Amino acid sequence: MSHTATDTTPALSAHPFAHLGPAPYRFTSASCTEDRLLMLAMTSESVLAGRQDANVSGSCDHCGMCIHDFYHFKASNGTVFKVGSVCYEKGLIDEQTYADRKALAQAKAAKTKMATKKRHSREAAKISEALEFFKANQDAMDAAPHPRFSGKSLNDYASWMWERCGTVGKIKLYKTVREALAS
Ligand SMILES: [Zn+2]
Repeated sequence: MSHTATDTTPALSAHPFAHLGPAPYRFTSASCTEDRLLMLAMTSESVLAGRQDANVSGSCDHCGMCIHDFYHFKASNGTVFKVGSVCYEKGLIDEQTYADRKALAQAKAAKTKMATKKRHSREAAKISEALEFFKANQDAMDAAPHPRFSGKSLNDYASWMWERCGTVGKIKLYKTVREALAS
């Protein structure tokens, strides 16, 4: 492994993930904390025993950092390991083999899919929060003025807007109503 100062040729065997198992590496699956919590809640202990994805929190097998999103890869000898997105992006870009490029593309696609899923569940939570808030504050909303029309209430405005808004608009409306009631 020792290199002299004049030896600039990198060793061919030094893949960043070589310490985790031999190349090539295949992407197998990705999971976020929410997925694992859900999976734990639905699976019996005996089934979970020995499963890699059964840990809710964990660390990257490459760098040891605490990670919430696990990306599982399989080395050519069958060893499965998990790394965070920072490490697979660096590790697989460094070594531009076809297998690396394929594994990288698959892991990135899984990352995008997971991010979309997380955003949707955050939005859904916000929408139910808004509905709860509106329900609990009907009287105050009836008493508060409409932002544009005299003789109408904030509640009229909120009902009218809610019917016509998409998810992002509803979340914005929730904020507007809270601010109007707080002022
Ligand atoms: Zn890492």
